[in-house]
Amino acid sequence: MDMQRIPAQDGIYNLQNFDKTRETFSWEDVKKNFSWNETGKVNIAYEAIDRHAEDTDKKDKTALLYSSPDREEKLTFDELSKKSNQFANVLKKYDVEKGDRVFLFLPRSPEFYAAFFGILKTGAIAGPLFEAFMEQAVRDRLQDSEAKMLITTPDLLGRVPQEDLPDLEKIVLVGDHNESSDKYIDFQKEMKEASTDFDIEWVDLEDGMLIHYTSGSTGKPKGVYHVHNAMIQHYATAEWVLDLNEDDVYWCTADPGWVTGTSYGIFAPWLKGVTNVIRGGRFSPENWYGTLDKFNVTIWYTAPTALRKLVSAGEDAVKKHDLSSLRHIMSVGEPLNPEVITWGMKAFDLRIHDTWWMTETGAQLIVNIPSEEIRPGSMGKPIPGVEASIVDNEGNELPPNQMGNLAIKKGWPSMMRKIWNRPEKFESYFVNGWYVSGDSAYKDEDGYFWFQGRLDDVINTSGERVGPFEVESKLIEHPAVAEAGVIGKPDPERGEIIKAFITLNDGYKDSPELLEEIRQFIKTGLSAHAAPRELEVKDAIPKTRSGKIMRRLLKSWELGLPTGDTSTLEE
Ligand code: ATP
Ligand code: MG
Repeated sequence: MDMQRIPAQDGIYNLQNFDKTRETFSWEDVKKNFSWNETGKVNIAYEAIDRHAEDTDKKDKTALLYSSPDREEKLTFDELSKKSNQFANVLKKYDVEKGDRVFLFLPRSPEFYAAFFGILKTGAIAGPLFEAFMEQAVRDRLQDSEAKMLITTPDLLGRVPQEDLPDLEKIVLVGDHNESSDKYIDFQKEMKEASTDFDIEWVDLEDGMLIHYTSGSTGKPKGVYHVHNAMIQHYATAEWVLDLNEDDVYWCTADPGWVTGTSYGIFAPWLKGVTNVIRGGRFSPENWYGTLDKFNVTIWYTAPTALRKLVSAGEDAVKKHDLSSLRHIMSVGEPLNPEVITWGMKAFDLRIHDTWWMTETGAQLIVNIPSEEIRPGSMGKPIPGVEASIVDNEGNELPPNQMGNLAIKKGWPSMMRKIWNRPEKFESYFVNGWYVSGDSAYKDEDGYFWFQGRLDDVINTSGERVGPFEVESKLIEHPAVAEAGVIGKPDPERGEIIKAFITLNDGYKDSPELLEEIRQFIKTGLSAHAAPRELEVKDAIPKTRSGKIMRRLLKSWELGLPTGDTSTLEE
């Protein structure tokens, strides 16, 4: 365990007294921030957009700062409110009703956000799909959700199945096209004709808002169903963890096809009325830094995969830019390697704050709070209002420092309410009042949680349980190693042996000497039993499109097994 600790940096943070807040906190207090607390009328689109558009001080504030290689655009809260009203009117014209599923298969663009809120304003359930999905992935999700309408572009239409979707009535096309059948709706034309006024559909806090198909690191994607009530936790974490304030410029790099891109790319910043940078197109270290610099981003939420690329790009790349506005960085999606945090302190003079949560949990649960000490390698502590623990398979709590199932006491506001069409799958998450996450971790004496791996990934070698994350983190500390994916490989003698796949940084060549040096580096730096018996250099490590290492796939390849669902595999 890395015992290094990094104290909080100077700053006036929204959550100052973490331990005391945890003791006295009630979710009821957060509800006072919403208009429905007085009116009883609920819709997350109203709280995120229209409420600010109705506020004379806020209506002309920039809500969306959009930038892609070929387009730049700004939308104020007022403009976003009106555009989403127009789209809601288009949907009503074509009979979309409360509870219907309306899917978006669109690149990040101003139209995406107008359409997204338009859907929510009708009371329908939005289903964002990542733009890089191929036909089978699109079919699976539209079929499973029985989507009634799809919004896409003429470019992406080729990947929308034309058969086997009996529920799909209409397809809205954003952009010039030659489709003449009445199955297609022309976005531009309809928007022009639609009124900018709309009577929002007021719903219940427990009514459906969103379906996300999980990224599929472990198997077939499942339709995770969220309700409007989630806004309570989006709001609280926007304040405590994102530390958003009136003048912040916020950038979340996640695509809205993944839960981070909606909970924290859409809801959290806009519930707080903050200017939100949306960057389209592909990423490289140059345009990550360029975006932070150009828009004077103050708060940045990104992922380990991106940060590891920045580390590989070196410190000189940072120095070319003025990042002096940046005051707070967070990470999610995968374990945050301590090496990356150490590098962040050098490159940005800022701590990188890990946050742990998942599609099913709807919002952050275990986090590093800006005003608290962080311990590199640890995910931090549960937010106020959330009880987390390590349990055994029967749901009994385990003592500190013992590795087990990371579990959350049922009942936090943003928890999924079902898995679409699969009630038995939903039930299977809960044991003895705990939501069991499928991740393994331990808790130290001070209540910090330490991620060890997905339960399926934990390696049992000669009777020792080894988390792949620990080995991967040590591997990337070696100057030659850019990325690493570690698996257990069946072995008649040892149960499993550790096999590591690595990619090399520029300037290093695959050789038996280098691999032996890396092995020794793990052996002396971590432990003999954790040193990979096999090391293989690859050109790339397979990852999901949301940036997670797909150890399941490495294992299937290694063992020559069927690869299962790979719809979320990055090319
Ligand atoms: P599927 O459930 O379909 O296999 P997935 O689990 O990759 O897909 P997500 O819900 O996007 O889909 O990811 C949640 C998972 O990501 C967590 O269960 C955990 O394994 C990992 N994760 C997220 N944040 C962190 C973090 N801060 N540290 C370590 N792991 C994290
Ligand atoms: Mg999962």
